[in-house]
Amino acid sequence: MIHDLATMTSPEAAEAVARSGTAVVPIGSIEQHGPHLPNGTDTMAAELVARAVADKLDAVYAPFGPYGVTPIHAGHPGTVTLRRQTFEALLTDICTELHGMGVHTFVLVNWHEGNIASMNAVATDLQDRLGATFVAAQACYVAQRLYRDEGGELTHGGGIETLAVMALDPDLAKVERAGHPTRPAGAEEMDLMRRSSEVYGFVTDVSELAQDGWYGNPTWATADRSKTFADTVADGVLELVAHVFRARDIRHGRTGGTSDGTDEKETS
Ligand SMILES: [Zn+2]
Repeated sequence: MIHDLATMTSPEAAEAVARSGTAVVPIGSIEQHGPHLPNGTDTMAAELVARAVADKLDAVYAPFGPYGVTPIHAGHPGTVTLRRQTFEALLTDICTELHGMGVHTFVLVNWHEGNIASMNAVATDLQDRLGATFVAAQACYVAQRLYRDEGGELTHGGGIETLAVMALDPDLAKVERAGHPTRPAGAEEMDLMRRSSEVYGFVTDVSELAQDGWYGNPTWATADRSKTFADTVADGVLELVAHVFRARDIRHGRTGGTSDGTDEKETS
């Protein structure tokens, strides 16, 4: 059962917050996704996964709204980008209000790369200021890892994003409009470049990646695969969320020892 802040009554919300103390917040974007996928693809993916995460955690599902920070798609029809300041103010206000209601743990479930710097900045600030615990989940990268072995790729408008839309509503994934799978020269290298966690550069307009604004293989997505999309990615996210809590528990002596059975030693 989803404890959605928007559909619960006030007493129901009070009860859900008191019971769980955890809120799951989906974060996505409204931006062009080629001729075959909806502009809200990232938001749809984030919300699907976040709802499944909230359900499995018995946490409150707190909607954020559909918009994100996406200057790289600005000017392409269908795109509406927030300024970083607007996004950060919105996320700050929503989390501060939830904290006032009794939420002490926040799981941010994001599906859009342009939001990462801002969401991490807000999480860092609020964890310090409110004393709440923040966990940032990049659900798109979790999906990329989980589907890699079966040929799924996280490209803008490609197979994994098509799968997410199909999982929500097959009628919204107009795969036949995409034409042939497309792989512009150097697009993959540009994605690897901007997604590296070590040394990376920045893309300022999507046409630097692909002239058509998207690339990949939408036909990789199948109705069969789409049935388990939300559960599969949510389980992948939750496994890593558990690591975060385990690390904190070990550090704060709330468990008997580390996973290999040795007791924690102060190393300072
Ligand atoms: Zn996308």
